[in-house]
Parts: sequence; C-alpha cells; structure tokens
Amino acid sequence: ARDTGQQITPIPRITRDVWFTERDENIALSLKHTGDQLYKKQSPYQKVEVFETLAYGNMLTLDGMVMCTQKDEYVYHEMITHVPMLSHGNVKRALVIGGGDGGTVRELLRHEQIEEVVLVEIDELVIEACKLHLPETASAFDHPKLKLLVEDGIKYIQECANESFDLIIVDSADPVGPGEGLFTAEFYGQVYRCLTANGIMITQSESPRFNTKVFVEIYDTYKGIFGQEKVHCYLAAIPTYPTGTWSFSFSSKGNVHPKDVNMDVAAAFSREHNLRYYNEDIHQAAFALPNFVKDLLKK
Ligand code: SAM
Repeated sequence: ARDTGQQITPIPRITRDVWFTERDENIALSLKHTGDQLYKKQSPYQKVEVFETLAYGNMLTLDGMVMCTQKDEYVYHEMITHVPMLSHGNVKRALVIGGGDGGTVRELLRHEQIEEVVLVEIDELVIEACKLHLPETASAFDHPKLKLLVEDGIKYIQECANESFDLIIVDSADPVGPGEGLFTAEFYGQVYRCLTANGIMITQSESPRFNTKVFVEIYDTYKGIFGQEKVHCYLAAIPTYPTGTWSFSFSSKGNVHPKDVNMDVAAAFSREHNLRYYNEDIHQAAFALPNFVKDLLKK
C-alpha cells in the first residue's frame, strides 16, 4: 500500500469476552477470565474449577461458587486466623475443618508458639487444584507442624477427644453440598467439646446482607452452645464474595474476649509478617457492627 505518512492505529490485542458468573436468584457476581480454564474436575463431592481472571488472578470455584482468588484471599485468611490467635495469645494446637486451599494454615503457621495444626479437608481435588494453580495460597502443605488429613470433618470431630484444641476454625464453604453438615447445632456442640477450657471457635459466618437467614440462624445456634455473651461477630471487606461484606464468628469457651487483644503485640506481628489486611486497628474495628447487623443479631 502507498505510504500516506499517516500513523496507523494499532489493532488492540484481542481478549475474548468470557465471564464467570456466580448466580443467585436475584444477584450475580461476574469476573472476566481468559477463557482457558486451568482446572476442571468433578470430585465425589463437588465440581472443582480454577479460572484465570483478569482482575483477581487465578480463582478457585466449587460448584460454581467463588472460594478464593489470588489477589484478595489474604483478607479472608488473615482475618480468620490472626484475630483469634492474637486474642488468645497462647494457642498451641489448632484444628482447621475445610480450608483445603491452604490459606488458613499458611497464616496459622506464621505464629511461632503453635505446636501443631491439623487440617481436615474432605476433598483432595481442592488441595490438588490449589497446589497447581494457587501456589501462594497452598504454600504451607509441607510444613513440619502441619498434619493434613483428607477426610470428613464431621466424622473427625465426632471421634476427637475432649479438650484437644485451643482453636478450632471452621473454614467451610456455604451450607450446601458436603459443607451442609458443618452448619448444624450437633456439629458445633462437638466443636465445643473438643475445645480446651479457654478455647476459641471461629467460623466464616456468611454475608449478613446476602445470606441473612443463615446468618441469623447460625448466631442463634452458637449462642445456644457457648452462651449469649461469649459469641462475637466481626466483619471484613472481601470483594469477590457476594456483596463484599463478609462476617466471621468468634465464640469463646472460657473468658477470652477479642477486644482485650494486646495492641502492641498485634501491631508488631502485623509489621513483622508484612500482613496486607490485619493490623491492631483492624482487629478492634472489625467488631464495630453497623446497626442493621446489630439488629439481625438481636433477633
Ligand atoms: N474461603 C472459602 C469461602 O468462605 O468461600 C471457604 C474455603 S473452601 C476451601 C471450603 C472447603 O471445605 C472446601 O474445600 C470443601 O471441600 C471443604 N469441606 C466441605 N465439607 C467438608 C467436610 N464435611 N469436611 C471437611 N471439609 C469439608
């Protein structure tokens, strides 16, 4: 072609317009991805997939629901672990039920005083998918203090001896599929039994906006088991979970109160480990609840 001297506008790199959408009846969350699905297998329990999203990096989904993404998983994992660890101050043995992506145990094992962490995940494909495609999340599976068991957490807790753990974290997905039994009063009663006298139970307790009914019900159940004053709710901002407002429950068998945290120790820990969400101010502030959440918890 004749050179007219005009600058030719470069043709943009073609990115396919493919979106992952997590759908509920009235609301959906979509993330654009590359279209080359990194992992897709059906386990006996659920469909395990990994997508490469443009905004949040690699993302694990189970049965079409977002579990974690490379770029925001730190919020969930720092908040589910460091709040109880620093409130208690002397956790030696911790149990994680679910959590096969590895993020929760990675954070627990930052605490030097911990002697043993037991992780009970029902689905080995979750572990495989994360080791392959979310390696920063699944980075602690070879840690010498970790005991990894691929089995049903409900069965494990039924057979667990009284007062075995200072901290039990229920890092479950939503109350559907294999995780359903992790949301029952019977299960939480067993968790209570397996906690030491000053032990703490932490659960992810869904979104107070999105899963309002489940949210109200599970707090009722926890209060029935631990006592009205021993159960606290705290919040974190997690962009890839429905509504972005996510809650965690803190239930104390003894007298550990989350607001009595040693602020200097929490600040030093956050700095030492270059944490990206948790710090001493967040620890306190996370327990400040908006009125609509307080009202739900009064019901
Ligand atoms: N961070 C995620 C969230 O809130 O969306 C949850 C983590 S996801 C890794 C939850 C894990 O719990 C899944 O890997 C699932 O296989 C596991 N799980 C479900 N039911 C279980 C059970 N009965 N025993 C042990 N693990 C279970």
